Amino acid sequence: MLRLTEIKLPLDHAAEELPAAICQRLGIKAKDLLEVSIYRRGYDARRRSRILLVYTVDVSVANEAAVAKRLAGDRHVGPTPDMAYTFVAQAPGGLQERPVVIGMGPCGLFAGLILAQMGFKPIILERGKAVRERTKDTWGLWRQSKLNPESNVQFGEGGAGTFSDGKLHTQIKDPKFHGRKVLTEFVKAGAPEEILYVSKPHIGTFRLVGMVEEMRGNIEALGGEVRFQSRVADFDIADGQVRGVILADGSRIETRHVVLAVGHSARDTFKAIYDRGVYVEAKPFSVGVRIEHPQSLIDTARLGPNAGHPILGAADYKLVHHASNGRAAYSFCMCPGGTVVAATSEENRVVTNGMSQYSRNERNANSGIVVSISPEKDYPGHPLAGIDFQRYWESRAFEAGGGTYAAPAQRVGDFLAGRPSTACGSVEPSYKPGVHWTDLSQCLPDFVVEALREALPAFAKQIKGFAMDDAVMTAIETRTSSPIRIKRGDDFQSINTRGLYPAGEGAGYAGGILSAGVDGIKVAEAVALDMTGGTASG
Ligand code: FAD
Repeated sequence: MLRLTEIKLPLDHAAEELPAAICQRLGIKAKDLLEVSIYRRGYDARRRSRILLVYTVDVSVANEAAVAKRLAGDRHVGPTPDMAYTFVAQAPGGLQERPVVIGMGPCGLFAGLILAQMGFKPIILERGKAVRERTKDTWGLWRQSKLNPESNVQFGEGGAGTFSDGKLHTQIKDPKFHGRKVLTEFVKAGAPEEILYVSKPHIGTFRLVGMVEEMRGNIEALGGEVRFQSRVADFDIADGQVRGVILADGSRIETRHVVLAVGHSARDTFKAIYDRGVYVEAKPFSVGVRIEHPQSLIDTARLGPNAGHPILGAADYKLVHHASNGRAAYSFCMCPGGTVVAATSEENRVVTNGMSQYSRNERNANSGIVVSISPEKDYPGHPLAGIDFQRYWESRAFEAGGGTYAAPAQRVGDFLAGRPSTACGSVEPSYKPGVHWTDLSQCLPDFVVEALREALPAFAKQIKGFAMDDAVMTAIETRTSSPIRIKRGDDFQSINTRGLYPAGEGAGYAGGILSAGVDGIKVAEAVALDMTGGTASG
């Protein structure tokens, strides 16, 4: 097959215009176009009054070799790459050892699934509860201000991304098409088929819950095992080799292969591995706020007369401003038509994040607006100091919110003018269990306040109305990525602990659902190769 890129057609084009454009590009007759499948569909909205759909397609044509030869110099035409997933190993019969995967977020889920598909019968240990029970606990915080520190937005089956927008795009390099394997498994588990071809796919919370359950069923059917409410509290490491893991109830599982996919909020686990001498280093992340605007304002600014078009859906944005204090302020995890959610996993702390349903039809758009921070400048001296930094500001946010898990909030007009807010304006905050109107400079580092005060008016030059007085800012967003990196070598094992495979977002090797899933696959392959005498290379 041939792959053609950059085929541009008007937003409301007729179905037959796509094959016609393909034939024109290839210089062939309609009868010679045998098969068309859309690999990717994005859009170009640089001219809002004339938005174009941009296709990448795979086609089968008569005399394919001759067509390919004739168009050899055309960078938009080439052979379709082989995207099929191939297993790197198969577990030999009678294998006694079982690999252990810690954490059942997207990284652990895919590590577990791939190991199970290769016959290694992994044991997955997840500190939180199965997804339906977890949903009730999560609502406990959102509706009744009751936090369960072991079962919440961060912890439990499906991991941090389960109550999310379910955005599935990533900018990682993926030469082996592992991302395709993730998307294909998601579709098998119930995700909409369009995630395979739209350029910015998303799933939404409701569907993710069912998909995670389905994937667990697949792992179990292949001989894998999933144990909930099984927090790994300690690690048995001797002579630089993992020998097993110890659970919070004191029980022990022996294994020489441990995938550590615990996410960015497993602060106690980070301490446990650090205390056991595993090499850990501090890494940069970002802190800031969630901002909410009417979705209609974002749609109009981004899509003009095409706002609300069903193909385009609710509009998103991506913004960056380099502030004069040397910090970058940028939008993070934008959730069109969604809600701001309470995302703490620790008592007496407030953390914000965003989620949406597949329909993305809530009234407000929300996004993190965050400012980059680094160990050298902001939390020097200890590999785990970023965690102390997060805890300090999350506690300040809890206090500023009135000490009830309400989030401190301020209207943008008041924030820019440096005065506290006392009530909401035209934009109603969506955060549950509610907000407390105040002055956010109490619970944000000064350099973040400075950078945000400069960034918001700058963003308004790109999105008209972005700095509107009534837009709502809710604090604090601290869990943008892991505050540490658990360094691994080319064989995917910790650089000083054999058999320990740091993986996913918590280890500093992914940022988002898709990249965490991809990392889970890579690490599963490395484990399988090691268990069968092969070698992996990163
Ligand atoms: P996690 O998903 O964090 O999973 C880690 C798992 O390990 C957890 O289930 C945890 O309970 C478990 N665990 C931790 N410690 C232990 C232990 N000691 N023993 C046993 N189990 C343990 N990303 C996107 O790409 N798109 C989005 O739209 C999006 N929206 C988000 C919305 C919200 C509200 C949140 C919180 C995150 C969102 N993200 C989104 C980020 C995304 O969820 C993460 O990047 C992704 O989940 C990371 O995957 P992971 O498997 O590495 O870690």
